Amino acid sequence: SIVVTGATGHLGRLVIGALLERGVPAASVAAVVRDKAKAADLAERGVELRVADYDRPETLAGAFEAGDRVLLVSGNAVGQRVPQHTAVITAAKAAGVAQLAYTGLLGGPDADFVLADEHKATERAILDSGLPYTFLRNGWYTENYTENLAPVLAHGAVVANAGEGRVASAARADYAAAAAVVLTEDGHLGKAYELSGDTAWSLAEYAAEVARQTGRDIAYDDVPAETHHGILTGAGVPGPFASILVDVDAAIARGRLAGTSGDLSRLIGRPTTPLAETVAAALRSR
Ligand code: NDP
Repeated sequence: SIVVTGATGHLGRLVIGALLERGVPAASVAAVVRDKAKAADLAERGVELRVADYDRPETLAGAFEAGDRVLLVSGNAVGQRVPQHTAVITAAKAAGVAQLAYTGLLGGPDADFVLADEHKATERAILDSGLPYTFLRNGWYTENYTENLAPVLAHGAVVANAGEGRVASAARADYAAAAAVVLTEDGHLGKAYELSGDTAWSLAEYAAEVARQTGRDIAYDDVPAETHHGILTGAGVPGPFASILVDVDAAIARGRLAGTSGDLSRLIGRPTTPLAETVAAALRSR
């Protein structure tokens, strides 16, 4: 089977959809979920559900079978992901899977910001396991911005500490399509892909795009890191995670999320989704 973890999350769900769209029979697709109730729609489509929790390694014993092609969608519990991912890798190794694809972060071992640490450790653990792997080093999702339009519209400002840095983001659906390609085609074992959007934009350009589509005045407010940290915690973001986000912005200022290798559009055989399109979709869904 082709097995997708995190299948009830945003990206995992899109990967399952992309696999089915590529003609993979639903009976050959398995979704690893920790909450079966959240996966009723997947079961209805004929996808096999395998219940497992990264935090309870014993539950992962039934998640994989020999010969499976597996996508490990990185977890969202920042700070806990090395033991979580290690448990998945151990279970995949014990089962004898044919491929372990992993959604890491653009730059791989060269990414020099805090958020990358757990991804780097996971890639190392996969290499150490000796499993046939494919690294999907995802750049930023455009949705990281467009799902947070409310404060931008409320204050007429995009607030960040990213300076003039550019972000080569793509839509989640683009990254999901790439995952579906490497899980269904041959020739992707032992490969690391630097996945990002075709176009790198600045936050000033993002603010201008939101302004253009809404007819509102939206400025880019480039603030010092400490100021941004205070704004984030003031809005309810826990301090340690605010620190990670501020560190990401500093990385953006250094150009670390601006790479446009073209790997993503090459894999999916089409251009990545333009920023304007994802902004428009977010505005429509408000
Ligand atoms: P989501 O938060 O929507 O999905 C995360 C998935 O991981 C969910 O399905 C969640 O399960 C599952 N999960 C979390 N903890 C466990 C656990 N202990 N056991 C089993 N499953 C678990 O994130 P996205 O789909 O948007 O993104 C996928 C991943 O990409 C993120 O988890 C994160 O690692 C990374 N990411 C990348 C970004 C980028 O811009 N490149 C931005 C943000 C995240 P459940 O549905 O039950 O909650």
